[in-house]
Amino acid sequence: MTDNKYLASAVADDAILGLTAAELAEKIHSRELTSVEVTEAFLARIADVDGDVNAFLHVGGEEALAAAKAVDESLDRGEAPASALAGVPLALKDTFTTVDAPTTCASKILEGYMSPYDATVTRKLREAGIPILGKTNMDEFAMGSSTENSAYGPTHNPWDLDRTPGGSGGGSSAALASAMAPLAIGTDTGGSIRQPAALTNTVGVKPTYGTVSRQGLVACASSLDQGGPTARTVLDTALLHEVIAGHDEGDSTSTKHDIADVVTAAREGSSGDLTGVKVGVVKQFDREGYQDGVLEQFRASVDAMREAGAEIVEVDCPNFDHALSAYYLILPCEVSSNLARFDGMRYGMREDDDGEHSADQVMAATRAAGFGDEVKRRIIIGTYALSVGYYDAYYIQAQRVRTLIQQDFDKAFEQVDVLVSPTTPTTAFKLGEKNDDPLAMYMFDLCTLPLNLAGMCGMSVPSGLASDTGLPTGLQIMGPRHGDDRLYRVGAAFEKIRG
Ligand code: GLN
Repeated sequence: MTDNKYLASAVADDAILGLTAAELAEKIHSRELTSVEVTEAFLARIADVDGDVNAFLHVGGEEALAAAKAVDESLDRGEAPASALAGVPLALKDTFTTVDAPTTCASKILEGYMSPYDATVTRKLREAGIPILGKTNMDEFAMGSSTENSAYGPTHNPWDLDRTPGGSGGGSSAALASAMAPLAIGTDTGGSIRQPAALTNTVGVKPTYGTVSRQGLVACASSLDQGGPTARTVLDTALLHEVIAGHDEGDSTSTKHDIADVVTAAREGSSGDLTGVKVGVVKQFDREGYQDGVLEQFRASVDAMREAGAEIVEVDCPNFDHALSAYYLILPCEVSSNLARFDGMRYGMREDDDGEHSADQVMAATRAAGFGDEVKRRIIIGTYALSVGYYDAYYIQAQRVRTLIQQDFDKAFEQVDVLVSPTTPTTAFKLGEKNDDPLAMYMFDLCTLPLNLAGMCGMSVPSGLASDTGLPTGLQIMGPRHGDDRLYRVGAAFEKIRG
């Protein structure tokens, strides 16, 4: 891709920054490169370009190099690599707790907060020998679609610095798209992995709910949140998926179901052959309100899949039309409860603690000063919707809609293997463009929300530049619960046929 000058320069000039994670791992494991060299190259790159992009809230150079050194020493002793990605560094969204770096969720209320324990995902990364370069920028507590709700300034899209990289995980995706990291972790509550992936021309996956542990993932909306992998290729994403997925006793919603073999699926898919695969095009996603350039690329993508042997079927999911309303009720309800723990007593900042104010006053002052506008808006909506008299009218209704959406998916997956849609209705918008209009911001999540409500899995994979804006578009591939391997099989094939 040539129009992203950050990526283009890195890919052209450098023997390290331009390689995929799989290629880096191979060179590290064969001792052609050391993990320290690779990690140093990415740290230098961050020092060079993150002033423009603002993808990182914290860079942990020393800790990353120590982890890299440990991998090199183990390989030098002739030990087998701890994982297929051992030695390849990564950027971690600042929602996952880390004992050696602050965890802030891009909120003022958690400024400088140090967790006493590592999230399960963090622990798995460390055990896999993956050095953590730093913590990435995001919308505050993962609420938003542009990373502009960060208390520490927005992240800029490497494709055009005046535009958003999407959100809430804009930092992770922008880090990938500017070659500041070969791998990154995000979280997806309503699209926060897939949507920034689409806007930055990278690959992002929301795994099936319950397959990646939420222990130590600071909760936004617990019934929707799911951590997931993101990278520049489908195979790299699969390799990272394999590292972080799996049952965890520490998370009561963690499934004991077998984890799909996503790496084999990605390797099989890379032949580019889709013979025998049934792909459903969801009728509800093809309508007014979508940018012409996005629809154009989507139709071309469907044609390419057909040419590669896929059988294309139109699928009707009528209740998807209500996903936005249901999501923006259920999410605030869960947020209002989850964020009650930030009271100035337990974590992070405390305001007016001068002996003259009561505990209630300290809590109110801390929350007033510590939370940003969007977080407050959702706490207020959620508290209102859960109050006596409104609970039945709003929350219960939304839960009913959620069941109907699940049924739409279940019915669809009786007919087809995967569903597809554009990942976003438009390409990246300008920073500031939707800031004063929360509803317009919410509408941007139209395509990604149904999946989270149903606990299904989904991927966004680059689908070409829109002819009208010259910016990246993404193809969303959706799979049934525990059908994550299907995403990788189809995603890898698509990556191959679309170049
Ligand atoms: N944009 C959606 C929201 O604001 C999704 C966020 C997410 O997935 N964390 O809630």
